[in-house]
Amino acid sequence: MNVHDSEKVIGTLMAQGYSQVETPETAGLVLYNTCSIRDKAEQKVFSRLQNFKREAGKGKIFGVLGCVAQQEGEKIFDRAPHVSLVAGSASYTRLGEMLVQLESGNRRVTGLSLDTDETFDTPFTRRDNPHRAYITIIEGCDKSCAYCVVPFTRGPERSRTSESVMSEARRLAEQGFTEIQLLGQNVNSYRDPSPARWDFAMLLRRVADVPGIRRVRYTTSHPRDFVRAIVDAMDENEVLCDHVHLPVQSGSSKVLASMDRLYTRDEYMRRIEWIRNARRRYSITTDIIVGFPGETPEDFQATLDLLDEVQYDSLFSFKYSPRPNTAALAMGDKIAEEEKQQRLLILQEKQRAIQIRRNADLIGSVQEVLVEGRHQALGQWIGRTSSNRTLNFTHSETGGGALIGKYLPVRVTRSGPNSLVGESVTVV
Ligand code: SAM
Ligand code: SF4
Repeated sequence: MNVHDSEKVIGTLMAQGYSQVETPETAGLVLYNTCSIRDKAEQKVFSRLQNFKREAGKGKIFGVLGCVAQQEGEKIFDRAPHVSLVAGSASYTRLGEMLVQLESGNRRVTGLSLDTDETFDTPFTRRDNPHRAYITIIEGCDKSCAYCVVPFTRGPERSRTSESVMSEARRLAEQGFTEIQLLGQNVNSYRDPSPARWDFAMLLRRVADVPGIRRVRYTTSHPRDFVRAIVDAMDENEVLCDHVHLPVQSGSSKVLASMDRLYTRDEYMRRIEWIRNARRRYSITTDIIVGFPGETPEDFQATLDLLDEVQYDSLFSFKYSPRPNTAALAMGDKIAEEEKQQRLLILQEKQRAIQIRRNADLIGSVQEVLVEGRHQALGQWIGRTSSNRTLNFTHSETGGGALIGKYLPVRVTRSGPNSLVGESVTVV
């Protein structure tokens, strides 16, 4: 989402006559788009800002955007006095206006209001990838997971109209993009604000029907709002990729309750069964937090057991990081840092073994890949399967970028924990 926010900010500024340069040294305006989901990401921003402090004397304007901006607000001016603009994502529609204020002599401007029903819906987006494009369908979040800063930094949930999403999808297809990724903190709770009243499953079906679009992905799903109609829509149209990212966070119903995730382990497993019993084979991935306050060794064991039960194709794992304003800050039974680290390593080791087995099962199969690049040193092309695996492969075409953006059938010949290797075949 942050990458796409940056694309929209750049597109908006370029439409107003700004141009993009390669390095902060050559820029007149330097904007940092920031993440505050964990403390480490937040600390990075301040050390980067420090690196360029000297440049401020040369008349450069520095701004901080995103979740750290929203969370820290005017305190950023104290910590980094060379910053003159601080704006959270709910204020990006006012960005042009804020820059005009700076150019007309204001020393400091802020955009920190969360009180909005607007989405940052811009016709001007500078896309980083020539084949895959992101479309935001819903912004903000109305859940209140006890560990999470997002509701405080991105504001209330607001969906874009289906008409606006569809016209962006059609425009992207006309421009030659073939893969679309629908974005939101909780795409499942998408509700079309226009009289059409589409839900997420309907939106998926319609975007998948746009001529020229070969793949549609979406992220991210909250299990509570993941309904069977989404699996039915995916089963009906292979343009909807063979992948569901369904963040579970913990395998213990007790921890899930104290996280305020609004589902139990059994309710989560019911969703996994819908996906496993579907017509196609889907890759399932997740997010897990270890060391949430009060997580006992038994709770952690329940998470390890869940990995055995679900057999995820991949996962993102995090040590719990206390965040400002969140309910978990006040909870007792904090877990020591070394214990969190230990649990993280055990979890990752277990998942690595699962991935080795699951990827090895694909040896001999033929997968369609979208060619994303070339690994010159290895003499391989880099492809991505519908299930979101990296599949590096050899092909009689040996270079020059000729294959990038094409869809090709590739036979898997080898596998590792994180990727596959294969050779292209002419007939599926
Ligand atoms: N909206 C998504 C959902 O409900 O699953 C999550 C969005 S969040 C940007 C991505 C992941 O970061 C979460 O799924 C969670 O695993 C992790 N995360 C969020 N807050 C965290 C915290 N305070 N400490 C550690 N991990 C955290
Ligand atoms: Fe954070 Fe929970 Fe909202 Fe996801 S659903 S963004 S984890 S509050």
